[in-house]
Amino acid sequence: MNVVIVGGGSSGWMTASMLARLVGKQHQITLIESDDVATVGVGEATIPPIAYFNKVLGINEADFIKKTQGSFKLGIEFDGWKQAGHVYMHAFGRIGKDMGMAGFHHTWLRGKAAGIDSDLWDYSLNYQAAKNNKFGFLPTIPNTKLPGLVHAYHFDAGLYANYLRELSEEMGVVRIEGFISSVNTAPVSGFIESVSLQSGDVIEGDFFIDCSGFRALLIEGALKTGYEDWRHWLPCDSAVAMPCERVDPIIPYTKSIAHKAGWQWRIPLQHRTGNGLVFASEFMTDEEAIEYLKTNVDGKPLGEPRLIKFKTGRRTKQWHKNCVAIGLSSGFLEPLESTSLHLVQSAIVRLVKMFPHKQMNEVQVDEYNRQSKIEFERIRDFIILHYKVNGRDEPFWQRMKDMPIPDSLALKIRLFEQTGTIFREQDELFTEAGWQQVFIGQGIEPSCYHTLADSLSEGQLEELLQNLSTIMQGTAARLPEHSDILAQMTK
Ligand SMILES: Cc1cc2nc3c(=O)[nH]c(=O)nc-3n(C[C@H](O)[C@H](O)[C@H](O)COP(=O)(O)OP(=O)(O)OC[C@H]3O[C@@H](n4cnc5c(N)ncnc54)[C@H](O)[C@@H]3O)c2cc1C
Repeated sequence: MNVVIVGGGSSGWMTASMLARLVGKQHQITLIESDDVATVGVGEATIPPIAYFNKVLGINEADFIKKTQGSFKLGIEFDGWKQAGHVYMHAFGRIGKDMGMAGFHHTWLRGKAAGIDSDLWDYSLNYQAAKNNKFGFLPTIPNTKLPGLVHAYHFDAGLYANYLRELSEEMGVVRIEGFISSVNTAPVSGFIESVSLQSGDVIEGDFFIDCSGFRALLIEGALKTGYEDWRHWLPCDSAVAMPCERVDPIIPYTKSIAHKAGWQWRIPLQHRTGNGLVFASEFMTDEEAIEYLKTNVDGKPLGEPRLIKFKTGRRTKQWHKNCVAIGLSSGFLEPLESTSLHLVQSAIVRLVKMFPHKQMNEVQVDEYNRQSKIEFERIRDFIILHYKVNGRDEPFWQRMKDMPIPDSLALKIRLFEQTGTIFREQDELFTEAGWQQVFIGQGIEPSCYHTLADSLSEGQLEELLQNLSTIMQGTAARLPEHSDILAQMTK
């Protein structure tokens, strides 16, 4: 087939490179992008599965860190979400040691009930390393069977796209620069046949991938697929982004700092810190947001603030006729848990698993759409949770506390509050440890714990908690400094 990718932002080049690697021998891949239409230019914090994506592409980690001005990421710190001044972290990786089928938090809760005063994060290696600016490649904790550090990356989105472009072109992807002025569909089937460029060239294709960003040129502009608007649950609809000079040390985690009508990100890179303010325009004006961001960065600004408007939600069908939408054209969830690039990654994997023949198969298209919907909804619920269980008192936050939430999330909250149980539903992105940390970090503690946590005597319980805490803290202390690792990898 002639596969045509429209758009050369992160999603376009991620798609092009992976398709070239996996199905490039069977299909011709062309990518069209316009130098006159800027990419969104943000999207710099990721979650751990991206390491796997890069590995499949054969990317060398040190080369990648060097060329994208990247840093390592061990989690996200949430500052002021429970209340002003309170801080907790969603650290990647596991916490403590599970008690058979019961998560470690049950053991920790029993310890609390028995008067052992400790913090859940005393048992998270990722947290201990992050807060001490440490990093290392440690699949397991030495001399134990306990899992080691789990990492993702921060990187410069523009440099990542360039990196993948180079790789894609080496693998045979043809890049065409040009502004698409129209999308041409077949009169009866409505399938896309070609796109016309302003230059007069017409690019024909059998299968089209819409990576045109919020414009959604093909999936919406031509195919009118429709959009499910989730702003009643996630009312932040604006962001202002402005990088500043880097601050030392380069911390190995993202910061998410709540403010009166949303939150602010800080993403540490080698050459700068990425900053942005996400806000609800109903509660904060653009001018106020710009002013707030300018006075809340911790280095000298590098460039002017840039305003971005968005509508949280998802494309009703992410695959329609002979077009699949990947990236911002497929929907958008605010970047609170750094999930957008992951959604790009998983859409690509899903597409490769269900790669079509020239004749589209409706059953396959429906299955693709069913899986995409579930994935978006689960991530949506996790993001809403942060807002719903906030402890702040400004009007925006009061509204979030009082709002009705999806039934799927309401059930998860009730189940955790009453029993401490969390189920990671099949293929769900966020782990039980992720949900636990947001629940407990924002003040929701279960009213009881699992019976398996009672299988230890009080003495054994105390010893276990003490040992685990010593192991995590000792292991973190022995790790190298994050900045030393970066210096070694980039010299
Ligand atoms: C405020 C904000 C913060 C974010 N933070 C994160 C984060 O921390 N982590 C994360 O994972 N994700 C984040 N994201 C999401 C992330 O930025 C995107 O998922 C990612 O950049 C993919 O964008 P894209 O490639 O789909 O679209 P874009 O970057 O917008 O690219 C669109 C492409 O389409 C081309 N194009 C458009 N129209 C035409 C035309 N007519 N003719 C030819 N070409 C055209 C453009 O030239 C461009 O190449 C964030 C998003 C926002 C809005």
